[in-house]
Amino acid sequence: MKTTPTCVTVVLIAGLALATAAQAQSAKDIQSALDAAYTKYRDLQEGTNADYIPALAKVDPDLYGIALVTRDGTVYTAGDAASRVSIQSISKVFTLAKVIEEQGPDVIANTIGVDATGMRFNSIVSIEFSQKALGGPEMNSLVNPGAIATTAMLQGATRDEIWNSLLAFYSDFAGRPLSVDQDVFRSESDTNQRNQAIGYLMYAYGYIREEPLRATDIYTEQCSVAVNARDLAIMAGTLANGGTNPVTKKAVMSAGNVPEVLAVMATAGLYDDSGKWLYRTGLPGKSGVGGGVIAVSPGRFGIAVVSPPLDEAGNSVRAQKAIADISAALGGNPLAAASR
Ligand code: GLN
Repeated sequence: MKTTPTCVTVVLIAGLALATAAQAQSAKDIQSALDAAYTKYRDLQEGTNADYIPALAKVDPDLYGIALVTRDGTVYTAGDAASRVSIQSISKVFTLAKVIEEQGPDVIANTIGVDATGMRFNSIVSIEFSQKALGGPEMNSLVNPGAIATTAMLQGATRDEIWNSLLAFYSDFAGRPLSVDQDVFRSESDTNQRNQAIGYLMYAYGYIREEPLRATDIYTEQCSVAVNARDLAIMAGTLANGGTNPVTKKAVMSAGNVPEVLAVMATAGLYDDSGKWLYRTGLPGKSGVGGGVIAVSPGRFGIAVVSPPLDEAGNSVRAQKAIADISAALGGNPLAAASR
């Protein structure tokens, strides 16, 4: 059949109308999914705040915020997406991203490793099991030993230079200038002897080349950066969008390095419960003991929930449940792409 220009125009306009309708529909669907998960888990009383860092025990356990950012930069929220908590271990993702940007993905695979330890996030035994003689490296950048070693790999001539460049990198992911919660930083610095020991052990075994205490100090400061659910969702959304912030449109990291970051999140983002999480959601994710969890549906959306009470593994209870529900409602599981 021959198509006339008029015919093509009609088809185009009809297509556009359909696409707009689908978009409007999906905006409504997304908001409903967030609202439903917010209401369903608002009164859930499970888990407890982390208290090994004294400042975290004082955070309101009822604080509960959800945010989701689509690839086009639309931000959806439910509950309190504005109150801030410390980013804690979620920072490890972005430090890993920076080291990969600076030195390429192989440097991480060849030194720290990209395997799950299957142990708690601050396990010292996991360092012992990772020795080369035992077939190592068998760690990753998202548990404390690997994370402190990853921070030690950041480039910069002085502590200030390293820190300012790291905070600027995090801020580009969030799309606004982030800052440190000084109370949390002080509280964690006063009580981080275990992490100092981990830093020293990583130095003794050659994973850290110099100044292990400085690396642990920068690591502690990065964990104290204050973020809310909205910030975290935009950070996750930047990973979902191939490294370009979907809100500010700034290219924060190269698209080619994003898959490696997401892979480590999938393997080890929720510590020793990473397998359970991946089994249920298929989403690369990362939790922090401040109560935040981020998850990434590549090419679709970034999502974050903040709610301080944690389960035994150190992952926010409400956040895991809310993200799993919302992603299921929106068909966000990338492993189910061919099953829909
Ligand atoms: N700063 C915390 C620590 O090192 C981060 C741990 C976490 O969020 N799981 O213990």
